[in-house]
Amino acid sequence: MSRRRRIYEGKAKILFEGPEPGTIVQYFKDDATAFNNQKRGTITGKGVLNNRISEYIMTKLGEIGVPTHFVRRLNMREQLIKQVEIIPLEVVVRNVVAGSLAQRLGLEEGTALPRSIIEFYYKNDKLGDPMVSEEHITAFGWAATQDLDDIMALALRINDFMVGLFLGVGIRLIDFKIEFGRLYDDQDMMRIVLADEISPDSCRLWDLKTNEKMDKDRFRRDLGGVEEAYQEVARRLGILPEANVQDIKGGSSMH
Ligand code: UDP
Repeated sequence: MSRRRRIYEGKAKILFEGPEPGTIVQYFKDDATAFNNQKRGTITGKGVLNNRISEYIMTKLGEIGVPTHFVRRLNMREQLIKQVEIIPLEVVVRNVVAGSLAQRLGLEEGTALPRSIIEFYYKNDKLGDPMVSEEHITAFGWAATQDLDDIMALALRINDFMVGLFLGVGIRLIDFKIEFGRLYDDQDMMRIVLADEISPDSCRLWDLKTNEKMDKDRFRRDLGGVEEAYQEVARRLGILPEANVQDIKGGSSMH
């Protein structure tokens, strides 16, 4: 790891300079945080599972024409991605009431929404990622109106696809958070692409039959069985082939 230049270290991932210009290596850690860093912990094997789950979902999204930053998985904990300029927004898509929406508006968790809702949060840890409107986003120049149109259209396509993907394996996609970046080509043309990750860290996933939580809420709410839940998501998606639990727990970072 010391051979490569570390570009950025976040809560759950580290970014290293990639092998070619315009590429980055995204390394998935087992570290978990919640409530704006107030709760910290480790979920053994999480990085390995999120690397695979995010690879799987981004590849499938690519196949239906959603542009993403994903290039290929390199090893158990790393994937090669295209370097993008991250738009400082957390884009949340909701299908069912949960989390902050339930609290803020006094709604009951688990109630299906009349239609999917998109929310924007300004990515700023010091401020605790405050919710913002399209007006704030365009007025402060975080994204242009055209960018926002692209982001919302992509977010809804991603949601429709993922709802179906998870429904097919007996999981309800309650809500999720995604991030987008600007990708510039040789002619300096810019495209908005899906970036960051899609994993049980950033989605609420409930078992269709039992409503059991299969996501980071198990960590946030001290429900236990966090690793097992992430593994079960991977298993249902069919991406935990022969690897046994030991492989995942011991998953080497380098090869
Ligand atoms: N989320 C996330 N990172 C954040 C905040 C939220 O990945 O910093 C995800 C979260 O896992 C959930 C969705 O976004 O799937 C909506 O989260 P919510 O606004 O309900 O906030 P929370 O209850 O997680 O604080």
